[in-house]
Amino acid sequence: MSILDQFKLTGKKAFVTGGARGIGKSVATALAEAGADVALVDLDIETAEKTAAELRQLGVNTIAVKTDVTNPKEVEAMIDAILSAFGTIDIAFNNAGICINEPAATMTFEAWKKVIDINLTGVFLTAQAAGRAMIQNKKGTIINTASMSGHIVNEPQPQCAYNASKAGVILLTKSLAAEWAEHNVRVNSISPGYIGTEMTLSAKQWIPGWLARTPQKRMGNPEELQGAVLYLASDASTFTTGTDLVVDGGFTCW
Ligand code: NAD
Repeated sequence: MSILDQFKLTGKKAFVTGGARGIGKSVATALAEAGADVALVDLDIETAEKTAAELRQLGVNTIAVKTDVTNPKEVEAMIDAILSAFGTIDIAFNNAGICINEPAATMTFEAWKKVIDINLTGVFLTAQAAGRAMIQNKKGTIINTASMSGHIVNEPQPQCAYNASKAGVILLTKSLAAEWAEHNVRVNSISPGYIGTEMTLSAKQWIPGWLARTPQKRMGNPEELQGAVLYLASDASTFTTGTDLVVDGGFTCW
């Protein structure tokens, strides 16, 4: 197979959590452009439906599935809905996440729990459910969204729960990769730096500082993560598992 053919996803079946907008939407678009049918999984079903309709224009099948990734029953129902629509699951992009910035000393238990539930437990639940289907099929590739904040502590925003959740995603990814390699299921993560989405663009006061601390002196845009996920989702990466791919404009160099 030529190297370009290795990146093709024709006929593959994928889901993307947090797929309605932002990084999830961008990656879902790349998967669809490469030929995969894609399920957009999100709490925000209205936006997910719109995204699904846009991606259908690319000539692939798409569905939108309303799911809270923190709820095990909803996650099981989501997998059932995707299996009944697509028949199988080849690619899972576990990407839904939030950020709450509160100083550690005054952070409420509710805020801590919400971040850990969505960013870490949600990734575990959707990876576990997808992994079960993939183990049965003896193939599959899972990509989890971590963050450069799983590697280093950013300032000035206080975000201990976010940092801890993303560090957790990186080692969860390695743990699943080690357990599931014998089933031909690969598990990797990406660690974006600052990417221009609603999550970051709403924090206007911090953006100049972030840019100053980024060697490339700019934020990334969601499309700049497409190639990283396409690589990990495709046959171009068949010997890559348990790795974390940092895409951060050089932020973690300093
Ligand atoms: P975003 O806020 O634009 O999109 C997040 C999506 O997740 C939304 O559509 C939202 O409805 C969905 N979501 C939130 N909670 C959910 C839940 N419980 N169940 C299902 N869906 C839920 O954010 P984004 O910037 O696109 O971030 C996507 C991922 O990338 C997150 O995990 C985030 O932590 C990570 N990340 C983002 C950046 C960045 O700079 N934007 C950097 C590093 C990592």
